[in-house]
Amino acid sequence: MSASDFPISFEFFPPKTPEGQTKLQQVRQDLYALKPAFFSVTYGAGGTTQDGTLQQVQAILNDGFDAAPHFSCIGATRDSVRAQLHEFKAAGIRRMVALRGDLPSGHGTFGEFRYASELVEFIRQETGDHFHIEVGCYPEVHPQAKSPEADVQAYVTKVKAGASSAITQYFYNSDAYFRFVDEAYKHGADIPVVPGIMPIISSTQLMRFSDACGAEIPRWIRLRLQSFGDDTASIKAFGLDVVTDLCEQLKNGGAPSLHFYTMNQSAAVTALCKGLGS
Ligand code: FAD
Repeated sequence: MSASDFPISFEFFPPKTPEGQTKLQQVRQDLYALKPAFFSVTYGAGGTTQDGTLQQVQAILNDGFDAAPHFSCIGATRDSVRAQLHEFKAAGIRRMVALRGDLPSGHGTFGEFRYASELVEFIRQETGDHFHIEVGCYPEVHPQAKSPEADVQAYVTKVKAGASSAITQYFYNSDAYFRFVDEAYKHGADIPVVPGIMPIISSTQLMRFSDACGAEIPRWIRLRLQSFGDDTASIKAFGLDVVTDLCEQLKNGGAPSLHFYTMNQSAAVTALCKGLGS
């Protein structure tokens, strides 16, 4: 599968060590071969800085591929966001993933933006149509949402503030995605909603992330993973099977493209994309 038949995109996080940098250079080369529509690079998660994000984005742009920094507004001021937008423009960036972000361990202050919708609105006020703005959304409901209905409403507000398209939190139940898209469309939020796909490579890592972000691991998947113990080959083979099925359901059901959370590794997503493209 490649951008020429069904659009795909990939997410990286900025490596914190020189070894991680070197490894990611190779991973980037591996994934360029799949001709993705763009790459996105996370920001802030795990204490990473916007400098690390920008560095990766620029390296990808220099290699001739489109790249989007993630940009969160937690703790930011209007002036700091304005300065950052200026820097993005100067770097030739045309696309970004605009997010609220999370307070580190729940501490700190929100700053001048309470929600991502306010960030999106501000970016549009300051820069007009310069950026393609992606926003996050949550088919299985954001963990802090007051209710599922309130979460859809919050998403609709982000879309009306000027988002161009959305990428979902990962999930393993395609019904949650299709329902979310239907509901958002009913409320007039008709931008493309791209499923975020998390490959299953390690069960402990998956359980840890899912607890933190509120993504549900269905009981049957959790039990099967637990039954493999330390047998990583079986975990990967099972993961590839399950996630390939999920991607096929999404593609056949009308998802506009797929965004892969690579975890800075190429093998699993390459296998997934090749399986789907055949
Ligand atoms: P919002 O859209 O602002 O929503 C946050 C919460 O507030 C939700 O519960 C929502 O229901 C509620 N809400 C929103 N508006 C209102 C309103 N007007 N009234 C009442 N409630 C409201 N985090 C990082 O730190 N770095 C990253 O790089 C990163 N990348 C991500 C990429 C994707 C595709 C996704 C889906 C998430 C990513 N995250 C990242 C995580 C994200 O920052 C967190 O999930 C965060 O808690 C919410 O961000 P948001 O932009 O979705 O916030």
